[in-house]
Amino acid sequence: MFSKKSAFVRGLEIGGKAPVRVQTMYDSTLVNADASAILRYISKLAAMGCELMRFSFVSSEDVPVFTRICKASPIPIVADIHFDYKMAILALECGADKIRINPGNIGAKWKTLEVLKAAKDHNAAIRIGLNTGSLPENTKGLSKSDLMVETALEYLNDFESAAFYNTVVSLKSSTLDITYDSYKKFASLSDYPLHLGVTEAGSTLTSAIRSTWTLGNLLKENIGDTIRISITGSLENEVQAGVEILRTLGLRKTGVRIVSCPRCGRHSFDSQGFLAEVEPELLSLSSDITVAIMGCQVNGPGEAKGADVAVTGIGNKVFLYKKGELYKQVNRANAKDELFSCIKELSVNE
Ligand code: SF4
Repeated sequence: MFSKKSAFVRGLEIGGKAPVRVQTMYDSTLVNADASAILRYISKLAAMGCELMRFSFVSSEDVPVFTRICKASPIPIVADIHFDYKMAILALECGADKIRINPGNIGAKWKTLEVLKAAKDHNAAIRIGLNTGSLPENTKGLSKSDLMVETALEYLNDFESAAFYNTVVSLKSSTLDITYDSYKKFASLSDYPLHLGVTEAGSTLTSAIRSTWTLGNLLKENIGDTIRISITGSLENEVQAGVEILRTLGLRKTGVRIVSCPRCGRHSFDSQGFLAEVEPELLSLSSDITVAIMGCQVNGPGEAKGADVAVTGIGNKVFLYKKGELYKQVNRANAKDELFSCIKELSVNE
């Protein structure tokens, strides 16, 4: 195995020895959108662990909002381009830190070369984004994964001939075996950084399972440098799923690890409602701690002994445990505030 190349996206390293990056994609149009609201949303996602944000850049009407976002975003911005090389150049002029193109649908090679020149001028990265739905004609009777890998290597060759190296590659399919085989083959032939993802992966639960299987197996083999979990659902869920996969594999340490019991006949505390109330804020904390939310006072404290902070309850009485010891009994109405001040105290003292 050779040492991996890196791509740099506004100073954020992808590949090399850098940690695996989590990214997501904005799900609405930019025309007439509220740039300030989008920037606040990006900050929220960044606090949850998102490191890159992609937007579809589809028309010159996107320019004002997209430019403001590129200028003020706390994390690098990626423009997703289809078909029109002029839109790629325009996105780079707006300040995109990276663009995603499929050179196969950009048309004549000179158009791709123009995009490469603009990316170089603006110090931006490019992702060669392939998927099985948009591959060139299969004249040699190759398998889909072989065709995708061969196509990616040809495009990379064109990029290198133009002395462009700030490149990331993705090889996506909605068929898990094809996705897995493609990335695995590519990684045995090239050291360019890889953006991993399963395309059209489904709703939250379906996508989380499919993506965990496919991406988890690749990441365990040290294949993959940035991930996007495609979900027909919220961006928060995409980011949470991405971070959780990395944490489960031991590839990301920061952030709160949430433990919660499934509840059973003994449960006397609405742990599900409490978890729903506190989870978004817990996920935006950077403390490397475990927080347990348990459904009863019978087994909850024992089952949560390993957690830094645990919450159990009986009806409206809520019990907070710190490092396995009872810390405070509070009312349900104050429980959220008390939980966060307990976490703050713990973080300050460590
Ligand atoms: Fe059941 Fe209590 Fe265990 Fe939750 S903590 S699963 S409610 S016994």
